[in-house]
Amino acid sequence: MEPTQPTASQPPQAAMHSVGAPDASALPQAETYLMDMDGVLVRGAQLIPGADDFIRRLRARGAPFSILTNNSLYTPRDLQARLTRIGLHVAESELFTSAMATAQFLHTQKPGGSAYVIGEAGLTTALHDVGYVLTDVRPDYVVLGETLSYSFVRLTQAVRLILEGSRFIATNPDVIGPADGGLAPATGAVAALVAEATGVKPYFVGKPNPLMMRSALRRLNAHSESSIMIGDRMDTDIVAGTEAGMATILVLTGVTAREQVNRFPYRPTAVVESVAHITV
Ligand SMILES: [Mg+2]
Repeated sequence: MEPTQPTASQPPQAAMHSVGAPDASALPQAETYLMDMDGVLVRGAQLIPGADDFIRRLRARGAPFSILTNNSLYTPRDLQARLTRIGLHVAESELFTSAMATAQFLHTQKPGGSAYVIGEAGLTTALHDVGYVLTDVRPDYVVLGETLSYSFVRLTQAVRLILEGSRFIATNPDVIGPADGGLAPATGAVAALVAEATGVKPYFVGKPNPLMMRSALRRLNAHSESSIMIGDRMDTDIVAGTEAGMATILVLTGVTAREQVNRFPYRPTAVVESVAHITV
């Protein structure tokens, strides 16, 4: 028996890493951290083990960070309360949603504009906060976000407004996502309905649009070269972080398994089991 000798079916760790992504020991040290929320810190209504300690370690080092989510349902205050209930203590200002990124984008594009919104408080509050007027009379934009009860009446109104010339914006392209009791169709799926009806495709602001990363970095006054993006999805978190010029860490506590990493044309800077394995 030679237990140290690798077999054909079980290649040694070092060989796996050389063709895939390096492990945490190869991590560059960052000054600033952006991280996805679901699959990284929480899974549905459950805290991922070590997530609370990871946040504590970031604070102890004085590293600025931002927790990102493509979910546009909630305001940062609502999100903060939901996270506190499961034992994760973060400040409102440490949360950044696709609704906030969308409001920031529209504020830059057309300050003081108007929008017809299909969405919940997370989106309407973010738009009010940047000085937008919500109206169904010739709005500059139709803005679509996550909602719990899509109204056919409102979708019809959105379709008509887009046909009359309002620009079509959606908070995030996800077509399906986690919800209470299982998966549920998400903003991208409803956006497809409106796009089919109008022949107009929306502009999606949330991940994988690197715009979301850049807005989050700007809020922290941080630079991409000294920042790390941590996520559980290759096709959103890792590609967006890469395109924004950041180092990236894939965690395996969400939707991606280690053996899937090599299928993508881009790769994370490092792959770790969970945020508990990230040294700061
Ligand atoms: Mg995720």
